[in-house]
Amino acid sequence: MKPIWAEVITIGDEILYGQTLDTNTHWMGKQLNIIGVKIIRKVAVGDQREEIVKALDEASQRADIILITGGLGPTKDDITKKTLADYFNTSLVEDQEVLAHIRALFSKRNLSMNALNNAQALVPQGCTVITNTMGTAPGMWFEQDDKVYVSMPGVPYEMETMMEKSILPKLKATFALPVIYHQMIQTVGIGESWLAEQIESWEDNLPSHIRLAYLPSFGRVKLRLTAVGTNRLQLEDDVAEQVQKVVPIIEKYIFGYGDISLEEAVGEILAKEGKTLAVAESCTGGFLAHTITSILGSSRYFQGGVVAYSNNLKTSLLDVSKETLVQNGAVSEATVRAMAKGVKKLLQSDFSVAISGIAGPGGGTPEKPVGTIWIAVASPQEIVAKKISLSKDRLVNIKRSTVVALNMLRIATENAIANPS
Ligand code: AMP
Ligand code: MG
Repeated sequence: MKPIWAEVITIGDEILYGQTLDTNTHWMGKQLNIIGVKIIRKVAVGDQREEIVKALDEASQRADIILITGGLGPTKDDITKKTLADYFNTSLVEDQEVLAHIRALFSKRNLSMNALNNAQALVPQGCTVITNTMGTAPGMWFEQDDKVYVSMPGVPYEMETMMEKSILPKLKATFALPVIYHQMIQTVGIGESWLAEQIESWEDNLPSHIRLAYLPSFGRVKLRLTAVGTNRLQLEDDVAEQVQKVVPIIEKYIFGYGDISLEEAVGEILAKEGKTLAVAESCTGGFLAHTITSILGSSRYFQGGVVAYSNNLKTSLLDVSKETLVQNGAVSEATVRAMAKGVKKLLQSDFSVAISGIAGPGGGTPEKPVGTIWIAVASPQEIVAKKISLSKDRLVNIKRSTVVALNMLRIATENAIANPS
């Protein structure tokens, strides 16, 4: 089956200047993927005629579907509509339906129309007009040399509604589209190159209609399996067969499948086991607690946390002895172990996590350079502590150490289930 390729052109100076984040192509990518259209390129150009024409020329060399957003406003800076009319050798004509729609919108809002508003009813002759139920600028669908060009407004909710109501159904009706099926395996605690090494022979033996991608982020790697074919149930079976083969090789790193996050996965284990959690944080300043409580239903297992930034609070609230702090320092195994023990007792939880480190960018010493972070996890049976050495970037260190802490907690909960006390 021939794949159908799309290219997305986003038009607007504000996108290039960095004033507006291009969320449109992000959203469109997801939707097109669902219906089996493959995006092969995204291009951003300014509100400049020559650049728009060049982008259209180039896109039409590569893609079957060219989706355009932006530049449809009524003001002089927006030139997409006129440029498209010229590009397709046609002229702008007034569309009575669009005019009636704009009039209705204005009268509903009790506003009078001016010449610029009237001009929004002008569309290139011969294109199929797509109604914009959320605004005034109509969408436009052109067909030339077996290719489809669709121009949509830049305003995200206008474009999204138009895509959902009209354009996606019309694309499905116009093209014979394959089924694309994705499955995600979520891993943590192993870098992508090591992961790749471990699963190399499995990867090399994947059938040709299934592709693998490594998607890394802060201590986690998503393995995305993408299958392309005609029958969804068959693809699901094919992918499941491959997942079954790879799981035994990397089982200890897998925390879930699909879109699940690490904090969600750990939360599910705690909730299922009816166990509770408390945290004691120093260098992460509450980020761990924030991450845990970002999950709906976290009150089922999360008791609370203590942000003990100063040594005084580590002692008074968490019962870390002064000697421990003096002899070992706040960033040490002995201190995080004591913090984990202290918060577990204070908040009466089954599990606890403690973090103390030098987040940076200053404050390091030769023995404890910036990025040195100690983490301890206490379970009903034991306390496990670990030192990690991260970067000089404060926020990156906070996020990364949170992932490591959550992974240690995941392992601790799994061990506790396997060996109940
Ligand atoms: P326009 O169709 O060029 O008049 O765009 C109208 C508004 O839509 C702009 O002011 C932007 O705020 C927004 N916009 C345009 N393009 C995008 C895009 N690719 N992603 C998100 N917002 C956009
Ligand atoms: Mg614009």
